[in-house]
Amino acid sequence: MSETIEALLEEGRRYPPPEEFTRNANLSDPAVYDRAEKDVEAFWEEWADRLDWFERWHTVLEWNPPYAKWFLGGKINACHNCVDRHAEGARADKVAIINEGEPGDVRTLTYSELRDEVARAANALKELGVGRGDIVCLYMPMIMELAVAMLACARIGAPHTVVFGGFSAESLKERINDTRAKAVITADGGWRRGKVVPLKRTIDEALAQCPSVSRVLVYRRIGDAAEFDAGQWVEGRDVWWHDIVPKQSTDCPCEPMDSEDMLYVLYTSGSTGHPKGIVHTTGGYLVGTSATFHWVFDHKEEDIYWCTADVGWVTGHSYVVYGPLAEGATVVMYEGAPDAPDKDRFWRIVERHKVSILYTAPTAIRTFMKWGDEFPARCDLSSLRLLGTVGEPINPEAWVWYRDHIGGERCPVVDTWWQTETGMILISPLPGITVCKPGSATRPLPGIGAAVCAEDGTVLEGPRGGYLALTQPWPAMLRGIFNDPDRYVEQYWSQFPGKYFTGDGVKRDEEGDLWLLGRVDDVMNVAGHRISTMEVESALVDHPAVAEAAVIGRSHDVKGQAIAAFVLLKSGYSGDHLPKELRAHVAKMIGPIARPDDLYICGDLPKTRSGKIMRRLLRDIAEGRALGDTTTLADPAVVASLRDQYEQTEA
Ligand code: ATP
Ligand code: MG
Repeated sequence: MSETIEALLEEGRRYPPPEEFTRNANLSDPAVYDRAEKDVEAFWEEWADRLDWFERWHTVLEWNPPYAKWFLGGKINACHNCVDRHAEGARADKVAIINEGEPGDVRTLTYSELRDEVARAANALKELGVGRGDIVCLYMPMIMELAVAMLACARIGAPHTVVFGGFSAESLKERINDTRAKAVITADGGWRRGKVVPLKRTIDEALAQCPSVSRVLVYRRIGDAAEFDAGQWVEGRDVWWHDIVPKQSTDCPCEPMDSEDMLYVLYTSGSTGHPKGIVHTTGGYLVGTSATFHWVFDHKEEDIYWCTADVGWVTGHSYVVYGPLAEGATVVMYEGAPDAPDKDRFWRIVERHKVSILYTAPTAIRTFMKWGDEFPARCDLSSLRLLGTVGEPINPEAWVWYRDHIGGERCPVVDTWWQTETGMILISPLPGITVCKPGSATRPLPGIGAAVCAEDGTVLEGPRGGYLALTQPWPAMLRGIFNDPDRYVEQYWSQFPGKYFTGDGVKRDEEGDLWLLGRVDDVMNVAGHRISTMEVESALVDHPAVAEAAVIGRSHDVKGQAIAAFVLLKSGYSGDHLPKELRAHVAKMIGPIARPDDLYICGDLPKTRSGKIMRRLLRDIAEGRALGDTTTLADPAVVASLRDQYEQTEA
C-alpha cells in the first residue's frame, strides 16, 4: 500500500490579483513571507503591538511541545481591544454591528453604543453572581446581543462557551455539563424560515439535568410576535434581559486578564466523531485573529464586512466577533435562512447594506448553484470587492461560479483553511499578492509552518500528496481540550511527534501550492490507490447537471474499497442516463481508477449543523452498519431516507 495520497485532478485555471487591488492592498509585498520566516517571534510581536495591552509581555513565546504560551506576562482584555479603544477614539460613531433579523428588521450599534451596551450587560452578569473565571453558556440566535454577551463575558473575565442555536437539549446538556457553566444567556426564541426556534424551551429541557447552572438571562427576541412555547419561567433562576440590563450603569472597567487566561471553550462541529471542547486564550488569539483579518480580508476603514457563519462556530468567533471588531470593522450579522422569504436573501442583504467583503462556506455556494443563477443576477452586487470561503474543500467549479456570479469576475476569492483548533486562518491566499487557483488554499500565511507528511511522518518535498501537519506554534493555537489533556496529546500530537496533526489530507502542486483533500478518514483505498473523496466529488461537480456530491469508499472483496457516489442535481436536471454519464465523466476527468462503482441520485445529503457533508454516515449506510454518532446532524430524516433508497437499490 502506498503511504501517500494520490493527486489525480488537474486544474489549470489561474487568477492573478487585479493590479488595482494590489496597489491598495494591506499586504502587497511578497517579502512579508521571508521577513516572518527570518524571525517569527519578532514578526508576531509586531502584530501584537497593534493591540492595546495594560502591561507588555516579557516573553513572546514559550514552547514546550505540545504546550505553547504566547506573550507571557502580558495583561490584556479582549473587550477593551474590540470595543473600548475604538469607542474612545476616532471610531466612536462608526457603525460596529449591522444586525438584520429574518423578518427584515435592521438594528445597528455604533462603537460607542456597543461600549455602553456591553458595559451594562457585564454589570448585569455581575449582579447575577457571574465573576472572573466563571464559565457562561450562550445559546442565542444571530442577533447583536449574542456579540454583546460574548464581549460582556470577556470584559469581566468570564470565559464563554457558545452553543449553536440549532443544537438539541441533549447536545446542550453535554456541553454545559462538560464545562460546568454557571450561567446561561439565551433568548425566548429566534426566527428561522418564518418559524420560531424555541431556544428558551430547549434550555429548560437541558437544564433539568445541568446542576451547575444557577442563573438564566433571557433576551426577548420574539415577544408577542408569534404563538409559541416560550418554556417555563423559573423564579429565582430566570431573568429577562430587559428587566436587568438597561438599568445598569455603563461604568464597568475591563478586567486586566493574563495573556494566557482562557477566553472561551468551543466544541468542534463533529464531522468525524464526538465534538471536542477546544480551549482558546486571550493575547495570542487576539493577535492571530486581528492580524489575519487585516491581511486575508484586506480590511479597510470604509468596508462593510459580512461573514455568514453562525457565531456558534469558530468562524463566527474569530471572524464575526473578535478579529473584525479588534480591527474596528463594520460587521453585518444576519439572523435567518438564505431562502427566507426567497432564494435571493443573501444578495438582497449585500445590496441593502452595500457589503464589500463576503465570507461564506462551500456548502452555501453549492446550494446557490443548485438554486440557479437568476437569484444573484437580479440583485446589485457591485459593492463587493473580495470574497472568501471556509469550512470544506471548495470544488473548483463552485469556486469559479462564486467568482463569476457573485464576484462579477472582478473580486479575488480567498479559500481559507483553518480549524476550530487553529483559532485563526493558517493557509490562504493573500489577495494582493497570491495568484489564486480554484480549489487551492495556496500557501501557509506568513509566520505559519506547514508540511506534507507520509503516514510514517516523513516530510515529503515537491509535488506530493499526504497528511497536513503544522510544524511550529502559532499565536491563536488551541491550548488544549477542555477537561481532557490525554485526548489533546493523542488527537493532535501522537501521529507525528513534535508536529501538530491536522487530520486533513493535502497535495502540493508543481508550484508549491497546497490543495486540501478533505479529512484523512475520508481518503479511499481503491486497489492500492489512495484517492481523496474530494477529487472525485469535484469531478462530479464539474458536470453541468451536478450541484453537489458526496463520495465514500465502501468495503469491496477484491479492490479493498469500491467508490460510491451520492449526487444532488441542479434544479431542472433529471434523467436515467445520468448515472452512467456521470461515472464516465469522472473517468474522463481523473482516470478510470476513480470511476464510481455505485452512483445514487438523491434529494439531499447528510450534513452537520454547520453544513459539512458527513461521509462517515454514508459509509455506515453503504456497509449496512448501525449509524454512528448522529447528534451533530442537521436533519436525521435525510440519512433515514438515504438508507431506504440504498437498501431498495441493493435488494
Ligand atoms: P470534528 O473535528 O469534530 O470532526 P470539524 O473538523 O468539522 O469537526 P471544524 O473545526 O469546524 O470541525 O472544521 C475544521 C475542518 O474543516 C478542517 O480540518 C478541514 O477538514 C475543513 N476545512 C476548513 N476549511 C477548509 C478549506 N478551506 N479547505 C478544505 N477544508 C477545510
Ligand atoms: Mg476537526
